[in-house]
Amino acid sequence: MRHSFLPYALPSIGEDEIAEVADTLRSGWLSTGPKVKRFEQDFAAYTGAAHAIAVSSCTAALHIALAAHNVGPGDEVIVPTMTFCATANVVAHLGATPVIVDVDADGLATVETIGRAITDRTRAIVPVHYGGQACDIDAILQLASSSGLPVIEDAAHAIGCQYKGKRIGGFGAATAFSFYATKNMTTGEGGMITTDDASLAARMRQLALHGMSRDAWNRYGAAGSWYYEVAEPGFKSNMTDMQAAIGIHQLRRLDSFIVRRQQLAALYRQTLSGLPGLTLPVERPGRNHVYHLFPVHVDASTAACDRSTLIQRLRENNVGASVHFIPLHRHPYYQQTLIGSGSAFPVADQLFDGLLSLPLYPGMSDDDVHYVSSVVRKAVGSPATLPHCA
Ligand SMILES: *Cc1c(COP(=O)(O)O)cnc(C)c1O
Repeated sequence: MRHSFLPYALPSIGEDEIAEVADTLRSGWLSTGPKVKRFEQDFAAYTGAAHAIAVSSCTAALHIALAAHNVGPGDEVIVPTMTFCATANVVAHLGATPVIVDVDADGLATVETIGRAITDRTRAIVPVHYGGQACDIDAILQLASSSGLPVIEDAAHAIGCQYKGKRIGGFGAATAFSFYATKNMTTGEGGMITTDDASLAARMRQLALHGMSRDAWNRYGAAGSWYYEVAEPGFKSNMTDMQAAIGIHQLRRLDSFIVRRQQLAALYRQTLSGLPGLTLPVERPGRNHVYHLFPVHVDASTAACDRSTLIQRLRENNVGASVHFIPLHRHPYYQQTLIGSGSAFPVADQLFDGLLSLPLYPGMSDDDVHYVSSVVRKAVGSPATLPHCA
């Protein structure tokens, strides 16, 4: 048994990130400034989007993107149930109703479930690229445009992810990314919004900083002016140069992180295939899975143990595991908001009952994967040979 705890996620911070943060601290410019500008330019170039706006979190990015589409009281926004609560919380913050829809067996929203949820009050569709694999974005965009609705993508898991050879970030009206500590690249806390629409970009930039007509960089820089106007009551969601200092270097290393995640995922497949009742994540053709998560599903009727027991066995063997996610419709608050006859979630319920995420991050060694897999194999085993698992 291993002596140190293997967490399910860990950031990879290098000396370049550390030196850049130190440089920022010494520069005297801590809040939104030259490093945020550089990070935004680099991020736009990486995703291929025309505009990138750095913000304090993906939650803020989603909030601002919906606010910029004038979502408010009486409106409905369609969100998949298999997501983090932030996706729906921001809809509630705007006084609108999140309309929660079921997902497919891979945890992705489908055009069928989204299509059934569209009403004359729908104002936006927010698909989630669950786990680091793109959902069927072409079909969703087609459905949305035929209904005259904007698609605002929750790409918290999907930085660097590709759909038909193009990186996520330039598909929907706006795309929200996360740099939270466990995500594929991090700034500690942070987020980004991308869009190809110049006027939408300008409105979102304004909303991210109090609704002011100029940002601090423009106000306090040598070429700046003291004058600004408040166009609307915006939010305080700007990114700091300290965060951007980390992000600039994380972005440069992102592709190598993704390659390592893909290697580790392939090793999991090799070492976990053919176990009774254990289903591994499916890779769909035409998409580049960036493996933010490695979610597996244990079917307690054919495996030697259920999900909770497997998580417990991993813990006892010094391995962390997590569950992504407890579906929105299972949370007390969102149970109260469920509306209409579309309040059944058979696929998500079945998925959730056996769902857990195994450790996956670029700093893991091949031996770490072999170790985790050996614990999983012993626990899931074959009911005939391991009757004492539970
Ligand atoms: C992490 C996450 C968010 C929120 O990201 P923050 O940057 O922490 O606000 C939103 N949606 C999904 C699917 C996430 O996993």
